[in-house]
Amino acid sequence: MEHFKFEDMNISPEICQAVLDMGFEEATPIQSQAIPLIQQGRDIIGQSQTGTGKTAAFGIPCLERIQADDRRLQALILCPTRELAIQVSEEFRKLLKYKENIRVVPIYGGQPIDRQILALKKGAQVVIGTPGRVMDHMRRRTLKMETVQMMILDEADEMLDMGFREDIETILVKIPEDHQTLLFSATLSPEILDITKRFQKDPAYVKIVRKELTVPSIEQYYFDVREKTKLEALTRIIDVYMPNLAMVFCNTKKRVDDLVESLQGRGYFAEGLHGDLKQAQRDKVMQKFRNGTIEILVATDVAARGIDVDDIDIVFNYDVPQDEEYYVHRIGRTGRAGRSGKAFTFCVGKEIYKLRDIMRYTKTKIVQQKLPTLSDVEEMKTNIFLEKIKDSIQSGGLTKYVNLVERLMDEDFAAIDIAAALLKHNLADVRTDDLDVLEDINCDETNLYGGDSEKMVRIFLNAGKKQKIRAKDIVGAIANEAGVPGKALGAIDLFDDYTFVDVPREYLRDVIHGMKHAKIKNKKVHVEVAKKDKQKKKR
Ligand code: ADP
Ligand code: MG
Repeated sequence: MEHFKFEDMNISPEICQAVLDMGFEEATPIQSQAIPLIQQGRDIIGQSQTGTGKTAAFGIPCLERIQADDRRLQALILCPTRELAIQVSEEFRKLLKYKENIRVVPIYGGQPIDRQILALKKGAQVVIGTPGRVMDHMRRRTLKMETVQMMILDEADEMLDMGFREDIETILVKIPEDHQTLLFSATLSPEILDITKRFQKDPAYVKIVRKELTVPSIEQYYFDVREKTKLEALTRIIDVYMPNLAMVFCNTKKRVDDLVESLQGRGYFAEGLHGDLKQAQRDKVMQKFRNGTIEILVATDVAARGIDVDDIDIVFNYDVPQDEEYYVHRIGRTGRAGRSGKAFTFCVGKEIYKLRDIMRYTKTKIVQQKLPTLSDVEEMKTNIFLEKIKDSIQSGGLTKYVNLVERLMDEDFAAIDIAAALLKHNLADVRTDDLDVLEDINCDETNLYGGDSEKMVRIFLNAGKKQKIRAKDIVGAIANEAGVPGKALGAIDLFDDYTFVDVPREYLRDVIHGMKHAKIKNKKVHVEVAKKDKQKKKR
C-alpha cells in the first residue's frame, strides 16, 4: 500500500491545508500515484475501486492548474449522473476553501437550463456535468470548448453502461488538440480502452489492485465474541498461545488507550501506539517492544504503519478493520521472514458480513474457532511447565536438588510421591477451577453475571452474620489479600451463614485467587463466583 503525505507532494499550501481540513491524513494509493503523473502533464487511465478517492486524485491537480485570472472554461469533467456531478463539485469546492476566484459550476439535466446559462455566463473555469446537458450547452454556445485544457471522464465505466458513449465522443472531438485527458474508472472494458486509444496521447495506466495475501503461512481464524467479552477472550488466547510478541489492532485511539489500561490492569506487559503520541514516546514504546520489555503492542492502523518488527507471533484484530486492505496490512505483520504466524479476528454479530467481504477480496479463508476454555488455558500452562522440567533434567546441574530429594528419601518417602508433591505446589497457581462458572464465554452469558450491573460479578463467601462478620471485615480482607480497594467493591449482602459481594469484573481473578488462603475473624473462608440460580433462591 503506497501512501504519500500530501505535504510531501507538490501541492500548493492552500490546497494542502484544505485537504487536511477535510480530514484526509494522507493520500490514498490512487492519489499517491496519479497526482504526480497528472502534474507532469501526462494523460492518465486511473483504475481503482469505488471509494478509493478518485475524485481528489484528479481534483487536486486539476484545480492546481487553473488560472484564476482567466475566466474562461479550462477544465471539463463528465460524470454519469446528476448526483455524482453534485458530489464532485462539492468536493472541488472544499478543495478550493483557501483559493479565490476559481468558479466551479455543475450542470445536469433536471435543473432549469436558464439558471445554468446564467451561472456559466458569469464565467466558470471548471464545469462538471452530465454528458447530455454538456452537449446541450455546447450547441447553445454557452459552453465554449476552445479553451479547455483538461478533460476528465469520471466513472467512465458507468457512463458507458448508461449509454453515453456517443455523447462522450461528440464532446471529445470538440476539444482542441492540445489538452490533457484523464479517465477514471473502477473497471476497464474494451469499450473504454477504445475511447482511450482514440482520445488519449500515450496514457499512463495507473491501476491500484487490492493486495492479495502474499503470506500463505499465516493461519487466520475468527472468534464470534461479544463486545464485553473481547477482553476476556484476548487474555485467554494470549494465555494459551503465550506469544513472545503480539500485536493488537483497534479501530480508534480511544480503544487503544482503554485496552492498554485493561491489559496492564490484568498484569500484562502492554503498551499502546497511536497518532496522539509524540515521536519520542513512540520511539520509547518501539524500543520496549523490540527488546522484549513489552509483550503486547496495541495500535491503530495509521500508527502501526511505520513500524517494522519481524517476529510478531500473533496479530489480533480486536476490532474488525473498516477496510479490507487494512486487514491484509495488519495480518502481514506476522509470518514474516518465512516464520509461521497467526491472525485472530474478533467478530461481533453482524460484523461477520464485513469479514466475508474481507475473505472475498483477499481470496482466503478465515476459519471460525471456539475460544479456549479455562481448562485449555490450564492444560497449556501445565504442558509448558512439564516441558520446563524436562529441559531442566536434560541440562543437568541438579546435584544440590538431588541431595534434597535424597534427604527426603532417607525419611522413607518414595521418589514418586516427592515429585508429585512438588508438582502440586508448582501447579497450584495454574488451577483455575474456581472460575469454572465463567467457563464458556462463547455461549450464553446470562447465567454468569450477578450483581448490580454488568461490570460487577457477584461472589459467594461461606461466612456471615453468625460468625460475627461485618461488611468492613470483608472489605479489609479483600483489600489485604487481593489488593482490591474497598471503594471498588459493590454491594455486600450479609446473611446468617454466607455473604454476597459484588466485585468489579476486572478484579474477579484477583479476589478469587487472593482469598484462597484468607481468613476472616480467624476462620478460613471459601470464596466462589455466585451461581445465578443460587442467588435467587437464597435471596
Ligand atoms: P471514488 O471516486 O474512488 O469512488 P471518492 O473520491 O468518492 O472515491 O472518495 C470516497 C470517500 O473517501 C469520500 O468521502 C472522500 O472524501 C474520501 N477520501 C478521498 N480521499 C481521501 C483521503 N486521502 N483520506 C481520507 N479520505 C479520503
Ligand atoms: Mg468517484
